[in-house]
Amino acid sequence: MTLNELKTGETGIIVKIHGHGAFRKRVIEMGFTKGRKITALNSAPLKDPVKYTLMGYEVSLRRSEAALIETIPVADDLQTDDINQIKTISEETAGVISEFKGRSHTINVVLIGNPNCGKTSLFNIASGAMEHVGNYSGVTVDSKTGHFKHGDYNFNIIDLPGTYSLSAYSPEELYVRRYLRDENPDIIVNVVDASNLERNLYLTTELIDMDRPMVIALNMFDELKNSGAAFDYETFGKMIGVPVVPTVSRTGQGVDRLFDTIIDIYERREKTVRHVHVSLGNDIETAMTEVKDLIKGDPTAGLHFSPRYLAIKLFERDKETESTLRHVKNYDTIIATRDEAVKKVEMLHGEDISSMIANEKYGFIAGALAETLDRPDKDSRSSTRVIDMLVTSPLFGFPIFFVIMLFIFWTTFYIGAYPGEWIESGIAVLADLVRGNMPDGPLKDLIANGILGGVGGVIVFLPNILILFFFISFMEDSGYMSRAAFIMDRVMHKIGLHGKSFIPLVMGFGCNVPAVTASRAIESKSSRIITVLINPFMSCSARLPVYVLLIGTFFEAHAALVFFSLYATGIFVAVVTARMLRRFLFKKDETPFVMELPPYRLPTLKSCLRHMWAKGKQYLKKMGGIILFASIIVWALNYFPSDRHELAEGERIAETDEIDAQHDSYLEMIGKTINPVLKPIGVEWRGTVALVAGIPAKEIVVSTLGVLYTGNDEVSDHALSARLTQVSPATGKPDFTPASALAFMVFVLLYCPCIATVIAITKETGKLKYGAFSVLYNTAVAWICAFVVYQIALWL
Ligand code: GDP
Ligand code: MG
Repeated sequence: MTLNELKTGETGIIVKIHGHGAFRKRVIEMGFTKGRKITALNSAPLKDPVKYTLMGYEVSLRRSEAALIETIPVADDLQTDDINQIKTISEETAGVISEFKGRSHTINVVLIGNPNCGKTSLFNIASGAMEHVGNYSGVTVDSKTGHFKHGDYNFNIIDLPGTYSLSAYSPEELYVRRYLRDENPDIIVNVVDASNLERNLYLTTELIDMDRPMVIALNMFDELKNSGAAFDYETFGKMIGVPVVPTVSRTGQGVDRLFDTIIDIYERREKTVRHVHVSLGNDIETAMTEVKDLIKGDPTAGLHFSPRYLAIKLFERDKETESTLRHVKNYDTIIATRDEAVKKVEMLHGEDISSMIANEKYGFIAGALAETLDRPDKDSRSSTRVIDMLVTSPLFGFPIFFVIMLFIFWTTFYIGAYPGEWIESGIAVLADLVRGNMPDGPLKDLIANGILGGVGGVIVFLPNILILFFFISFMEDSGYMSRAAFIMDRVMHKIGLHGKSFIPLVMGFGCNVPAVTASRAIESKSSRIITVLINPFMSCSARLPVYVLLIGTFFEAHAALVFFSLYATGIFVAVVTARMLRRFLFKKDETPFVMELPPYRLPTLKSCLRHMWAKGKQYLKKMGGIILFASIIVWALNYFPSDRHELAEGERIAETDEIDAQHDSYLEMIGKTINPVLKPIGVEWRGTVALVAGIPAKEIVVSTLGVLYTGNDEVSDHALSARLTQVSPATGKPDFTPASALAFMVFVLLYCPCIATVIAITKETGKLKYGAFSVLYNTAVAWICAFVVYQIALWL
């Protein structure tokens, strides 16, 4: 009987717990373990939740949850909390113990696999039955049950019809799904034809999503061996979190070990068991989170299957799953959220979501096999294989990768500069129009210097950023990004990370915020936290305007070299930080992960442009929002107190340090107060102000410089770079020199991440302390590095 059938005051002993992994884990942590005595406290038929006592304390469970816990009724005067602790068997306990043993030592296993993979042969050899074995598929939609004893345990084994997947298209598939939902088998045996791994493992990924106890019978192992292939199935099993046992069910080889392993899983002794997420790619994963959370929020929804599985099935518009969830309270919200999320992803990729999910799953399988399966392939000439042979080869992999990277950076900076110049001259024309046609006063100053100087100074870099985003989208969509991660795996191991961390790090060159979010795909917690924390050192596109401005001003002749060195410095600091974090904060973790290898596809121009635009839109939003806002604030702090303008006009010495403090703008006061801290790295007060103003978003650094170094009317050239090199009346020198420009760029590269990134870090790690760490640590590192750079540059 199940726990919900206990009446008030009745006592039972727990025999089994069904449901998906997360549910089982939670109840077991609450104390529901095999052999525990439990008493129902109040259990009226309509009462929900129901209260129970367990080891002397009260717990309450929903009726639907209690229905997943199997018990045997006992007299409530049984003198123990846990039947496993009874040593002396008295007459009254003997019956209970033997029933408990009988029930808890009965394991129900179900065979699931593709047609023709050897399920029935396995069924026959294990149970001694003589069922019909045929080398064809789809004979009957039915199940057969067999019984046998193995070791101390009784097995009920069920042979189900073969299926290629768990979509509800064919009667076989529907049958298998309903069976899993209604019958609660203890262990799923996924029979896999070893000679045809790719196709067979697709079903496996769907079973993994369900998160139910499972083992893989790697059947036809003889054929795999005969083909000359070598398969590291143990590592493979560790990667996917499912134990793998090779079998030859025609002869019975490996079958004993299979059932030993099943017992170990059943008794929770098997170390390999772990729930992994078959990653569906960033866009789908992000879109799915909301739906998953809604399902999780309703306790009656996801008990038999994990909320993740249900969410994936809903995304595939699976009718069967929709109808099982129809009774759920917030069903309409779930469906509406799903529809919107799916529409968004399909729009973005211009592809049907089911085939996207299937592609990602095949990519997961290909990645797992690429690391574990070594087959002497002569037969396969698929283009993906050929390209992969080259692109992931130890010899050519890296050079190809670096050439691609160089090409991307070159295009971003050099080609992007042309449209950038057009925008720049457009803004200069606008500013001149304003200067020439508006009456003098704060409003004219605000528009010409505050808004056009600030926002205009940043919008110039939109082309560079769009180009960079275009390439990142292209690499993601074509499948090359995964290969890059694959070849970087070994390198990443050297810094205690995994190849999977590589993609978020490259994405960081675009923007750290989505990159931090993308780290979610990394299963190991410590690797995830390290990846998140070092991500801000990947020089994001918001810092690009600073480099373009200062490099263009001071290092025109060696632009590429300086660009490259800055990015390299960021990477170097990231590497050092990662190694330190690994050594001092997180112990090594060696769990192997699957690196997905989706098939190559030539991305359509449309989808790349769409992706690029999705990212570029955020940039423009930032422009109209926080950057505009910050520019106005900076302008106002610089403009007021306004009485200084008349004074300054009259005396022309306003900019000297000796002048009475009241003549300073607020901004000057702020800048000069903090400036001593940054003086050792060669930054003057305007630079200091720009750095402080840039904390909300790094683009503001340039927009602030744009506001502060406004063209006074004598300078005909409005370009910011010309204004930067002017001699400051206060010091008699230009504020920026090559040395200080270099130090300034290093500081901007490394110092505290923008607010959006800090929020993302805090959200992804779940701890405020990591957000705080990145603010403090990064700023300290930035100061030290900038100081060293400045001193060396001065000395040279
Ligand atoms: P089912 O459709 O999954 O039930 O598969 P069957 O049990 O009917 O087996 C399909 C075919 O594969 C039969 O011809 C079996 O003899 C053969 N077969 C089953 N297991 C093995 C194995 O481990 N090795 C080899 N070489 N053949 C097998
Ligand atoms: Mg069969």
